[in-house]
Amino acid sequence: MSSLFSIPGIDISTEPEDLVCYSYDASIAAPSLPYAVAWPKSAADVSRLVRHAAEHEMAIIPRGAGTGMAGASIPTVTGAIVLSFERMRKILEIDTQNLQVVVEPGVVNATLQKELDYKGFFYPPDPASMAISTIGGNVATNAGGPRAVKYGVTRNYVMELEVVLADGAVLTVGGKMQKRVVGYSLKDLIVGSEGTLAITTKIRLRVLPQPEDLMTLLVVFRDLEAAGTAVPRILAAKVIPRALEFIDRSAIDVVEKYKPTGLPAGSEALLLIELDGYPATVRKEADRVASVCSLLGGEVTIAEDRFARERLWEARRALSPALKYMNRRKINEDIVVPVERLAFALKELRRLSERSGIPIVSFGHAGDGNIHVNIMVEKESPDAYRQGLDLVREVFSMAITAGGSISGEHGIGILKAPYVDMELKARELDIMRAIKRTFDPKSILNPGKIFSQAPRTFEDKDSQIPLFE
Ligand SMILES: Cc1cc2nc3c(=O)[nH]c(=O)nc-3n(C[C@H](O)[C@H](O)[C@H](O)COP(=O)(O)OP(=O)(O)OC[C@H]3O[C@@H](n4cnc5c(N)ncnc54)[C@H](O)[C@@H]3O)c2cc1C
Repeated sequence: MSSLFSIPGIDISTEPEDLVCYSYDASIAAPSLPYAVAWPKSAADVSRLVRHAAEHEMAIIPRGAGTGMAGASIPTVTGAIVLSFERMRKILEIDTQNLQVVVEPGVVNATLQKELDYKGFFYPPDPASMAISTIGGNVATNAGGPRAVKYGVTRNYVMELEVVLADGAVLTVGGKMQKRVVGYSLKDLIVGSEGTLAITTKIRLRVLPQPEDLMTLLVVFRDLEAAGTAVPRILAAKVIPRALEFIDRSAIDVVEKYKPTGLPAGSEALLLIELDGYPATVRKEADRVASVCSLLGGEVTIAEDRFARERLWEARRALSPALKYMNRRKINEDIVVPVERLAFALKELRRLSERSGIPIVSFGHAGDGNIHVNIMVEKESPDAYRQGLDLVREVFSMAITAGGSISGEHGIGILKAPYVDMELKARELDIMRAIKRTFDPKSILNPGKIFSQAPRTFEDKDSQIPLFE
């Protein structure tokens, strides 16, 4: 590792083979090389790097594991320094009396889960990327996951953040207490801001005791709308599952081809429902779920043991990777609608797919109305790709009409920036821009994200920043 520019005591590289590794994320956004990559080991290192960037008007791009789906950790300007948190991976404190942990931003979500599990506790936010994604990235994207239906998203668990501001100052916001009403909550503003307001260097999170019992149910529906209708009915029956996932017919077919797990072929939709709590409560809730679903024509199976349960979750987790085997280009979005509009949204997605002739594979966190919409366009065809993007606009429009949003958990980054004004009012955007200017007057922190600019995708060859300059 070597570097054209250096700051004593901080590992920095400007070597092309290093830069390439930090030029893309998990989205379809076009890669773009940073000027340098730095691996800070402390808040003090981050502060020195930011001061350097501020002085030389360079951009700083914080980066976790690069699993983001919106291009938010890809540089959009020349002369950017990527800050990788791979060397800030310590779990600093597990405080079971206050039900809190303190971690560095580079800690992988699953590593924290494992440590807590040994002690009988858990950290509820569980993005499907948890085996790789970092807590710093989860905080910056306000990540959710299957458990959000019962336990909420990352923001609900962030208690305190140590951050480095755009002038290099280190500030701690939030605190150890559950309750606090003093001025605006800067902590909550920073959560979900995609690295555009401040850089997180330490995180205090709330954790919970593990529930005593778990039960997983699989419900097969022969009718798509019935599956969508079952979701609000389960909640109205006073059952809040720990997870309530939805998989549509095309997703079942894809996953069974890629990794057969015995999901029933020929069904229109599946609900994967997990309940937790005391054993007697879990059994009672399972009965209620079964009667709601049966009335709507659902066939209910209960996973008999840990292995059966794991097999079902394996199928759910295999969905994203399985899509690669369709041999098509995936445009994936994550709309969210109010739960009572889920049946409408699922029907509309099917209608849009049939009308356009473009396969749409849908699955997601039905319990909170979050649907992963995968628009599968033909490869190597710019026309098909453009038709796919037109379909994205229609899908977003449908979600907004249904009272929902264009993103439930992946955030805006660069890819969704052109669509933000479909949802946010001009006044809201003005206030957001003013907040950005207050935090970051020189716009050095992750510039070009959230606020509109042209999307850059692998197909958009003309608008790409060249990979090697
Ligand atoms: C297979 C797969 C499944 C997924 N499932 C889910 C899911 O269920 N739920 C969900 O919410 N998301 C999901 N995602 C998206 C992604 O995993 C999340 O957005 C995740 O939170 C990103 O974490 P990361 O560490 O990879 O961050 P990156 O992708 O590296 O960065 C994401 C954003 O965080 C910022 N950032 C990173 N670290 C810091 C820091 N220390 N300070 C300030 N800003 C920072 C970056 O600048 C960028 O804006 C999935 C992705 C994949 C590939």
